[in-house]
Amino acid sequence: MSLVRCDGVVQIYRAQDVEVVALRDVDLTIAAGETVALLGPSGAGKSTLLWLLAGLLRPSAGRLWLDGADLGRLDQRRLDRLRATHIGMVLQNPARNLIGHLSAAQNVAFAQRAVRRDRRRARELLGRVGLADAADRPAGRMSGGEQQRLALAVALANAPRLLLADEPTSQLDEESGRRVIELVRDAAADGTTAVVVTHDPAVGEALDRTVTIRDGRVGAEGRRGEDFVVVGREGAVQVPPEYHHLLPPGSMARIEELQDGIALRRAEP
Ligand code: ADP
Repeated sequence: MSLVRCDGVVQIYRAQDVEVVALRDVDLTIAAGETVALLGPSGAGKSTLLWLLAGLLRPSAGRLWLDGADLGRLDQRRLDRLRATHIGMVLQNPARNLIGHLSAAQNVAFAQRAVRRDRRRARELLGRVGLADAADRPAGRMSGGEQQRLALAVALANAPRLLLADEPTSQLDEESGRRVIELVRDAAADGTTAVVVTHDPAVGEALDRTVTIRDGRVGAEGRRGEDFVVVGREGAVQVPPEYHHLLPPGSMARIEELQDGIALRRAEP
């Protein structure tokens, strides 16, 4: 069963009199328990998609479902409730996930306010991110790496159906990064679906599936080490950048029919 479904999602930011189309016609289905690495160049729209899935933004057009609920159409109270019970989020700037004057343990407890308080889970999570001895330290006094690990423990504190994490290993050394990946995979085994924006190849390799966003669209997907282009609405296909030397943007190609697909051959002008 799918936990997340995006159907023709468009996000347009309006700042003064300019409009930025951050996402255009994103179609994406994510199964319950699946772990997805969201890849793509900077400015492609990855964080925007994460914010939409978190219910922090409402799509300009198209629809998004989380666990059967249409996120764009819930009233604010229901959306807040769904977010507190169903979603755990790690924002890119780790300090923004935390309440600085509260201790690590209090931050985790606060994240459990909408669900049943579970001290054992809280302690276990702090241990899993290597902060067992830091439970009483104020979050605001921690290093960037410690805050990043604490932010993941906080995001998982309510045993969310959906974990959304933006670059959760960007400030971590290899060993801590590995523990973070392990924790995400273990959470998935317990039923938490994960969508992780990352530039870290180790994260991409460790998760079930990669989805590459380019220019606001789903351009490619990877599963078990194999990469595929995704045929979008109206048959649009993005030629991956590593083939631009053969088929540069703006070039014309001849289509050749094969038994099981088509080949594109550059037409000499
Ligand atoms: P990524 O996470 O892949 O780097 P983003 O989702 O942050 O991409 O941004 C996608 C596009 O939307 C970029 O062109 C970015 O400049 C623009 N953008 C993001 N947030 C805002 C905002 N709050 N207001 C205006 N433009 C924005």
